[in-house]
Amino acid sequence: MKKYDVIIVGAGIAGLTAALYAARQKLSTLVISADLGGQLLLTNEIQNFPGFMSISGLELIRKVEEQAKTYGAEILFDEVTSIAEQENLFTVKTASGNEFQAEAVVLAFGKSPKEMGVPGEKELKGKGVSYCVICDAPLYRGKKVVLVGWGLHNYENIVRLRDYASKVYWVFPGEKPLEEEELLNEAMSKGNVELVPFSEPVEV
Ligand SMILES: Cc1cc2nc3c(=O)[nH]c(=O)nc-3n(C[C@H](O)[C@H](O)[C@H](O)COP(=O)(O)OP(=O)(O)OC[C@H]3O[C@@H](n4cnc5c(N)ncnc54)[C@H](O)[C@@H]3O)c2cc1C
Repeated sequence: MKKYDVIIVGAGIAGLTAALYAARQKLSTLVISADLGGQLLLTNEIQNFPGFMSISGLELIRKVEEQAKTYGAEILFDEVTSIAEQENLFTVKTASGNEFQAEAVVLAFGKSPKEMGVPGEKELKGKGVSYCVICDAPLYRGKKVVLVGWGLHNYENIVRLRDYASKVYWVFPGEKPLEEEELLNEAMSKGNVELVPFSEPVEV
C-alpha cells in the first residue's frame, strides 16, 4: 500500500492550497478528489480573489493546480469512502478500490449547494443561476433577479440583493417568506422587492 506524508481530501481551493503548502515543505502529498475545483466550477467570474481583478473559477483552480503540482503534489480523481486511524497512521479507501496510508489527513471536502432540480438549471449554472448571494450579488447590479427560498437566512440574502438589483422577485412556497413581521417589513422597505407567494420554480 502506497504511503504519503499527507493525504488531502478535496481539490477545491482549500484542498489545493493545502497541497501547495504541504508539497512545498517537501512532504509527499496526495490529493484525492471527486473533481477539480469544487464550488469554484459554479462561478464564471470571481472579482474578490486577491491579485486578480476578474478571473473565472476554472482559470483560478487551474493555476493553483499547476502551482501545487510544480512542488510535487499528486492528484487522484476518485471518491474517498472511508478513513481509519490506527497508531497514528491513517488508512484512506476510495470508491474505485484504491487504498493509501498517510501520517496526516486534511479534510477539505467543502459542500455542495442545494439544487432546485428544474430543467435549464444545470445548463445555466454560473451563467446567471447562482447559489451564493454574498458572492454573486455584485454581478447583478442593475438587473432583475429572482430569489428562490424562504426562512431567516434569506433575510440577509434579500437585503444584500435589493441593494444591487433593480428589482427582486422573491419566490417561495408559502404565504410569507419570513415569519418575523418586522424583518419582512424591513426587507420590503426599499420598494424594489416583489413577493411571489405559493410559488416554486419549474424551469429556468
Ligand atoms: C455560485 C458560487 C459563487 C461563488 N463566488 C465566490 C466569489 O466570487 N468569491 C469567493 O470568495 N467565493 C465565492 N464562492 C464561494 C467559494 O466558491 C467557496 O467558498 C470555495 O470554493 C470553497 O472551497 P473548498 O475548497 O472549501 O470546498 P469545495 O469547493 O466545496 O471543494 C470540495 C472538494 O472536495 C471534493 N469532495 C467532497 N467529498 C469528497 C469525497 N468524499 N471524496 C473525494 N472528494 C470529495 C469535491 O468534489 C470538491 O472538489 C462562490 C460559491 C458559489 C457556489
